[in-house]
Amino acid sequence: MADTIFAKIIAGEAPCHRVFEDDQVLAFLDIFPISRGHTLVIPKEPAVRLHELSDASSAAIGAVLPRICRAVLRATGAVDYNILQNNGAAAHQAVMHVHFHIIPKYADGSGLGVGWKPAKLDGDEAAALATSIAAMLA
Ligand code: AMP
Repeated sequence: MADTIFAKIIAGEAPCHRVFEDDQVLAFLDIFPISRGHTLVIPKEPAVRLHELSDASSAAIGAVLPRICRAVLRATGAVDYNILQNNGAAAHQAVMHVHFHIIPKYADGSGLGVGWKPAKLDGDEAAALATSIAAMLA
């Protein structure tokens, strides 16, 4: 875990273009941006995937993420944007440390492209699945 590039950035052992930092959160520009202002927001806690993050660290990110989004929008002039949060290699996670992408979307098309192939929700299966997920939360 401590070997990821993001752990090195947190430790000050690798450089970044920092835009925000507090005790629990760091935000900096993505080094290979897919649009102008592409920013990463990461917890300092060393978790790989979002569901492994503590409640305290989750809350700390949630408290500042919209504020960082506002700053990115004001600085770039972008109006639309995506939040992307990948978990696991098959889900396109390349750096194994939790991170949220803030990706402005511009009129020239730069920004996140989404491959979205919706299926129809089956009523019976949906009822069972919702019940099962709710039970897991209880
Ligand atoms: P993901 O596919 O969600 O794991 O995205 C990882 C992101 O981290 C990519 O967009 C990379 O461009 C970005 N990245 C990797 N190394 C660095 C770095 N040293 N500084 C800033 N961003 C980085």
